[in-house]
Amino acid sequence: MSKQELMDELVAELRVCRRCSLWTQARNVVSGEGNLDASVVLVGEAPGRQEDIMGRPFVGAAGKLLDELLTSIKLTRAQVYITNLVKHRPPGNRDPRPDEINACSRYLDRQIIIVKPRLIITLGRHASRYILSRGKIRISGITKTRGKIYNLRLFGIPVRVATTLHPAAALYNPNYRSLVEEDFHRIRTILSEPTQPERDETLTRERNP
Ligand code: URA
Repeated sequence: MSKQELMDELVAELRVCRRCSLWTQARNVVSGEGNLDASVVLVGEAPGRQEDIMGRPFVGAAGKLLDELLTSIKLTRAQVYITNLVKHRPPGNRDPRPDEINACSRYLDRQIIIVKPRLIITLGRHASRYILSRGKIRISGITKTRGKIYNLRLFGIPVRVATTLHPAAALYNPNYRSLVEEDFHRIRTILSEPTQPERDETLTRERNP
């Protein structure tokens, strides 16, 4: 099957997913969108109000900032794939619960396997904690982890993971905004580096700011 067929199949499953109860209060499932051949995948937390209405990821205020951050690293939405850890909006934009993450994360895993990116940018603590856990890395908090780049093997794919704060947090805290901008600046640098040779999982390396 082609990447498009695999993703279409996944979206069809998501539309009827009843693995947790979030669908009962959501208007739309927000599966993700973008380039299936992208070398960069961005992973947010869960859809917010605007995303729930539109059925598209990052189309509200946080999305506007994300667009600016993408522009700062010379990428457009058409060049990347954007998705979330949880695909239905948690009511009132509350944090997704562990059981909801557990129910939904298999879809994110499949999206990563389909797209096979070279770099995953995790936005915020939930996405960062989940993705790094799949590379057997436990984090204590996003403020200590953000800005680090990890070389991992996820689902058999050698991939770099760049962790940063959630753009929504950056919207209400100017200090966070500078940190996110700093993290994207570093991401721009690594995107311009030549592809790294495959590394063994045991050689997982952290690059500190
Ligand atoms: N916040 C997220 O984490 N994802 C979205 O799609 C929108 C806001």
